[in-house]
Amino acid sequence: MALRSDPQKLLRQVMARFVREEVAPVARQVDESGRFPRELFVKLASMHAFGLRYPVKSGGAGGNATLYCIMCEELAQGLMSLAAIAAKQCLMATNFLHRFADQDMRERYFLPALKGELVGSFCLTEPEAGGDLGRVSTTAVKDGDGWIVSGMKTWITNAPVADFFTVLCQTDPGKGIRGLNFFFVPRDTPGVRVSPNFETLGTRSTEISEVAFNDCRIPARFLLGQEGKGLGALLAILAEIRAMTAALALGLAKAAYQAGFQYAKERSAFGKTINQYQLIQSKIARLATDIWAAELMLYDTTAKIDAGQRPSKESMMVKYFATEVACRACDEATRILGAYGYSMEYPVQRYFRDARFLLYGGGTHEVLQTNIARELGF
Ligand SMILES: Cc1cc2nc3c(=O)[nH]c(=O)nc-3n(C[C@H](O)[C@H](O)[C@H](O)COP(=O)(O)OP(=O)(O)OC[C@H]3O[C@@H](n4cnc5c(N)ncnc54)[C@H](O)[C@@H]3O)c2cc1C
Repeated sequence: MALRSDPQKLLRQVMARFVREEVAPVARQVDESGRFPRELFVKLASMHAFGLRYPVKSGGAGGNATLYCIMCEELAQGLMSLAAIAAKQCLMATNFLHRFADQDMRERYFLPALKGELVGSFCLTEPEAGGDLGRVSTTAVKDGDGWIVSGMKTWITNAPVADFFTVLCQTDPGKGIRGLNFFFVPRDTPGVRVSPNFETLGTRSTEISEVAFNDCRIPARFLLGQEGKGLGALLAILAEIRAMTAALALGLAKAAYQAGFQYAKERSAFGKTINQYQLIQSKIARLATDIWAAELMLYDTTAKIDAGQRPSKESMMVKYFATEVACRACDEATRILGAYGYSMEYPVQRYFRDARFLLYGGGTHEVLQTNIARELGF
């Protein structure tokens, strides 16, 4: 089975070791700091993590979607904030540069981002446009030999520390979603304003904020891709974005399951360890089954992506399923730990809070279920 091939096993071992030795010992402190984990970010870059899914000739490590998701899964077992930051840097923050940047942009932004010297952000969401991208109102208007970008983006992961932004803009409001295009905006462009970090329930060291683009003038070459093809450019990576979110969910579910499993074997109540009670066994059996199913779905989906397919329906199903499994696993783990599941001393409370982060990116579950039903011809 593809999952067991050597590069995959090796990557799993390397990432698991990194998590055990470098991430787990500081995870609580990093989470409580609420700050971007720069030191771990740079360490990951030195392991070539951010170039993992790019070809060697582009400066990457020559991996694929399966390897990328294995990395995300392993990191999420240690600290979801770090996993989310790395996942974004590898894919959404750098992918449009990889596909569409000229040589100068490649050298000034793309390669330094793979080396962890620059941080990128991906800006779709607006105060009035979440899942419904047809409502995007940030505009890019042609002005001589360049573009003027104006509008407000919100909920932008890494924005407080970002050096550049990939921004979804409307260039032709009459065309609706067919008028959407991506633009590259460096942070030092006059008119860029980044708000203070949002206070959030989970993934607390992933810094998130609003970004205002006040008449930002950028050169023509900062249009990423062919004019009018922005939606297609997004669709080209959408299945991988959803698979990546499922990988984060799978990693978190495994961490929560493991915490519950271990605690149940050690904790005694009413004369025996609690793993001997059928109601606890039922939780563990159900979670193990769900986790196995999520894993099979995930790596079946990534194998299809790696084979050059666009598994739209499968990627929505696995994002939806794996995230529900993660939420359930984190909930059950906090129950199995009793009062200790409620204590800030144990990481299970962090898993519980971080699980909610998975519900939004790649599509909310209400929207995904609607789209899955549509793809089923229902
Ligand atoms: C931690 C975090 C990090 C994020 N990072 C980024 C980022 O880096 N870049 C970025 O661009 N965005 C980011 N986002 C925003 C995220 O992509 C949006 O939250 C998501 O697209 C949903 O948009 P919304 O929250 O505005 O909800 P809305 O789309 O307004 O939906 C609100 C509710 O209505 C439901 N709903 C909407 N449409 C339908 C429908 N057709 N049928 C049934 N129900 C429906 C939704 O399911 C939801 O329950 C982030 C969000 C969070 C929480």
